[in-house]
Amino acid sequence: MDDFKRDGSNLSTCPPVEKWDDWVEYDPEAWPRRVARHYELVPTICFNCESACGLLAYVDKETGEVAKFEGNPKHPASRGRLCAKGPATINQIHDPDRILYPMKRSGARGSGHWARVSWDEVLEVFGTRIRNAFQEGRGEEVMYHVGRPGHDFIMDRTLQAWGIDGHNSHTNVCSSSARLGYLLWHYADRPSPDHANARFILLLSAHLESGHYFNPHAQRIIDGKMAGAKLAVMDPRLSNTASMADYWMPTYPGTEAAVLLALAMVILSENRFDAGFMKKWTNWEDLEMDGFKAKGQSFEAVIEAIKRHYARYTPQFAEKESGVNAEIIVKIAREIADAGSRFASHLWRGSASGNLGGWMSARALTLLHVLTGSVGTEGGHNLNAWNKFVPRPFTVPPPQKRWNELLYPLEWPLCTHEMSFLLPHFLKEGRGRVDAYFTRVFNPVWTYPDGFSWIEVLRDEKKIGLHAAMTPTWSETAWFADYVLPMGFSSERHDLMSQETHAGRWIGFRQPVLRVLQEKRGQKFDYTYQANPGEVWEEDEFWINLSWAIDPDGSMGIRQWFESPYRPGQKITVDEYYGWIFENSVPGLPETAKKEGLTPLQYMRKYGAFEVTTDVYRLNERPLSDADLAGSQVGPSGVVTKEGKPVGVMVEGKAVAGYGTPSRKLELFSKTMADWKWPEFALPEYYRSHIHRSGQDASLGSPSEDFNSKYTPVVDWPKDARGAVYTLLPIFRLPNLIHTRSGNAKVLYEISHKNPLWMNPDDAEKLGNVQTGDLLKVHTEIGFFVLHAWITEGLAPGVVACSHHLGRWRTNKDDQIERLSSAWVDLKEVGKGQWRMRQIEGVEPYASPDPDTNRVWWREAGVHQNLTFPVHPDPISGMHCWHQMVRVEKAGRDDRYGDIFVDTNLSQAVYQKWKALARPAPGPGGLRRPLWIPRVVRPEEAAFYTKG
Ligand code: SF4
Repeated sequence: MDDFKRDGSNLSTCPPVEKWDDWVEYDPEAWPRRVARHYELVPTICFNCESACGLLAYVDKETGEVAKFEGNPKHPASRGRLCAKGPATINQIHDPDRILYPMKRSGARGSGHWARVSWDEVLEVFGTRIRNAFQEGRGEEVMYHVGRPGHDFIMDRTLQAWGIDGHNSHTNVCSSSARLGYLLWHYADRPSPDHANARFILLLSAHLESGHYFNPHAQRIIDGKMAGAKLAVMDPRLSNTASMADYWMPTYPGTEAAVLLALAMVILSENRFDAGFMKKWTNWEDLEMDGFKAKGQSFEAVIEAIKRHYARYTPQFAEKESGVNAEIIVKIAREIADAGSRFASHLWRGSASGNLGGWMSARALTLLHVLTGSVGTEGGHNLNAWNKFVPRPFTVPPPQKRWNELLYPLEWPLCTHEMSFLLPHFLKEGRGRVDAYFTRVFNPVWTYPDGFSWIEVLRDEKKIGLHAAMTPTWSETAWFADYVLPMGFSSERHDLMSQETHAGRWIGFRQPVLRVLQEKRGQKFDYTYQANPGEVWEEDEFWINLSWAIDPDGSMGIRQWFESPYRPGQKITVDEYYGWIFENSVPGLPETAKKEGLTPLQYMRKYGAFEVTTDVYRLNERPLSDADLAGSQVGPSGVVTKEGKPVGVMVEGKAVAGYGTPSRKLELFSKTMADWKWPEFALPEYYRSHIHRSGQDASLGSPSEDFNSKYTPVVDWPKDARGAVYTLLPIFRLPNLIHTRSGNAKVLYEISHKNPLWMNPDDAEKLGNVQTGDLLKVHTEIGFFVLHAWITEGLAPGVVACSHHLGRWRTNKDDQIERLSSAWVDLKEVGKGQWRMRQIEGVEPYASPDPDTNRVWWREAGVHQNLTFPVHPDPISGMHCWHQMVRVEKAGRDDRYGDIFVDTNLSQAVYQKWKALARPAPGPGGLRRPLWIPRVVRPEEAAFYTKG
C-alpha cells in the first residue's frame, strides 16, 4: 500500500486494475493503529435500480467475506462512481433477516408459517405442475411476473423455449405512458439523451437525484453543465434537481404538454425551426389536420398549416393551464432554438406516469427535438436502440403461437406493455386463472395501486394455483406465496445487462463474486447456491434446471434449448451460456480479450464490462447494405420493403435505414392513431388530465372541455365528503430508497424513513392553520390514509405530495421481516372487501447477529398510500395514471398515524369506469394491436389477429 503523499500525487478515486488481485487498505476499525488488510477486488453490477452501474466487491482475503462495495472504474456508464444505494449492497448481503433457504408455506396462505425445503423439491413440484399444464393445453396458465428484471433476453428466451405467452412485467405502473409517446415518433420507446454534449437540457422531473439511469445520467448532466449547458426543470416540486437548474418551471400537474407545445409554437412562429431536417426526416407528406391534406402540397404550405394548427398553444394559454409564466416560456423556447441540434431532454415517469393522457408529454417533448433537428445528434436526443446492446445467445427459440389476453386484452390495443396492474381485476372478472405463478423481485401488494385487491386474489387458490415468490428480500407479496425462493443480490448471481445511459453501447456482467473467486482458486461448484450464503441461488441456473425438470427426456422439445452448445445433449452451464455470447455475439470483445491473453469470458470476469462502440450518432442515415437491398422494392412514398416489411427509406436518392416506423420517418402525423380510433390525437396535442384543476375550481371549466371524447374522469365524491380537494403527487422517488429492495439496507433507512404529506403554507392556513407534524387524513376514491404534514413552499398551492418509497408493514411482531423498515400492523378485513390497517408499533431496536439493529434510533416506517389508490388505466397507453384527486382534512380524534382503510368494492367500480373509456381492438384487418408496434416476448404474426 502506498503511503499518502502530501501533494496528493498518488491519490486516485479507484484502485488500478493491476492491483485488484491484492489491494491493501488500512483497517478503519483499527485506527489509530495502521493495520493493513488485503482484498481481492471482483467486478459485478449493482441490482438496486435499473441503471446497472459497475460495482467492485472487496473480498477480504483473510475472512473470505465481502467487506464493502465501491465503484468499478472500468464500467463505461458509471465510471467508478455510485449513488448511495450501490455501496449499501453490503447491508443487503449481510442482513440478518434475509431469506437464506427455499421455503414452503406450512399453514394457510398468508398465515406466515413456513418450512425449509430443498431446491430439488422445488424443481420437482414446479416441473411437474408446469408439464401437466403444457400437456393439457393450458400453457397460458403459467405466468412469470417480473418487478426488477436485471437481465437482458434470458427470460424471453426461456418463455419462448416453453412455447408460452407468459411474460408479465411491472412496466405499466412505471413507464409505458412515456414509451408510447416516444415510439409513435420513431419506434424506439425510450430516449437516450446525450446530456454531456448538450447546450440546453430540459428535464421533466427529478433526474439529477433519482431519475431513470440516475447515476450515469446525473454525471453527464453535470458534465454538460460544467461545459456551459443551461438546465431547465419542469416539476411541480422544488426537487433537488430543480434547485440546481437555471430555470424551474413548476407546472400544475398534468399540464406539461401545454407548456411543451407552447415552446414549440414559439419556435415555429419565430421561424427558428430546422426546416432542412424536418423536410428530410419527418413524414410531413402524410399530414392531415383541420381539413388540410398535405398530399400534393409543397413543404412550405405544410409548414404554414402546422403553424396554424399549433397557434392555439400560445404561451398565455400555457400559463393559464400550467401556472408557468408566459415570458419564461418564450425565453426558454429561444434558448432551446439557440441550442439547435445540441438540445437534450429527458422524461420517464413524472408527468407521463401520473396523468390521463400523460403519454402526450413525451410526444410533445419529442416535437421540440424534431423542430430543432436534435434527433440522433451529438448533444441531442438519441434512441435507446442505438445505445443499448443486447447480444444474442447460441440459439433463439421460435416465437410462441399463442396470445394471452390476461396480458394484452383487447381493450388497450396500443398499450406498450402488459396490463399487469389489472391482473386481479381480470381474475375477478373470470377472464382466466393462473396455475403456476412466478413473481420475481416483485411486490404488487405494496408497489402497485389497490394492493388489497391483490391480496384478495393471491389468497384465493382457485384464481392462483401455485405461487412462487423469487426474491432476495421478504415482501408483503411473498407473505402470500406458497414457496419463497431466495435469489441473489448483486454479488450473488449472473446477469448480462446493457442500458442506454449515454452516447455509447456497452455490456455489463453481473457475477457471483464468492463463486468466481473460489473457482479461481481451483474449487468446483455445480451450482451457485453452493458458494452463496445459505442456499441463495441465481435465476439463470434455476430456469435451466426447471426447464429440464419440465421436459426431462426432451420429448416436449423444451430441453433442447437448454443443452450445451459445446457438449451436445448435456445440460448447459452458465459459463457456457455467457462464454458463447462473449465469443460470438459481442463485436470486438474476442480481439480485445486476446490482446491480454484472456478468453472473452475471462475478460468479462476480470473487468465486468465492455464498451462495444461509441459510434452511435445519426444511425438513421446508415446506408442499406447490398444484402438489405437484395430482393427489396421501393414504394411510392420512398419506403424500401423486403418480403412485405419496411427495411429502409429513400432519402435524397439514397437508400438508408431511417427509423422503425411504417413511414421510416419521424411520424409527426401518426396514421396509427387515426387508424386505431383516436384520430383526434394523430398529432402531438394537449388535453386535460383526470386531476386537472377544474376538478377543484369549477370556474376553470370542465376537465374535458378541450377534448372531444366522452371522458368523465372527475372523481365522484360522496355528498358528505369533508376537507378540501387537492391533487396528490404520489410517485416521486427518494434518492436513497428503491421500492422493496432497499428495505433491508440499514444505512439507507437511517437516512430516509419518513414520507410526510407536502403542503403549501397557503393551503395549510386555509385548512385551519395546519403545522408541520400535524396529523392529516387523506381521502381517495376508495379509502383513506393518515400521516403527518410537512409545510413547505416547495410545492404550489392546490397540490400535495407524498413519496411512495415508505410505509412497509408486517402483520406479526417478531417475524424477521425487514424489521428496520416496517411497522407491525393490525390488518383486518372488517367486511367483504373492506380492509382496515392500524399500526401497532413502529420501528424498534432488536437483537440480531448485527449489533447495529440494537442501535436503530428511528421509530417511523412511513405510511403506505398505494393501497388506497384505485386503478386508473389510461384508455390509450394503458398506463396506470398515478396522480390522485384527494380530499384532505385534519385527522379526527379516532384517527392515528398510519391508519388505512380501503373498500375494494369501490376499486372494482372505478376500474369499470376507466375501462369504459377505452376503444378496443380489433383494429384494421382484425388486428389485436398494430403489427409495427413492439411487443414484449413477441408471438408469431398470426397470433396478432383476432379470430372473428
Ligand atoms: S444509480 Fe445507484 S442504485 Fe442505480 S445502479 Fe447505480 S449505484 Fe446502483
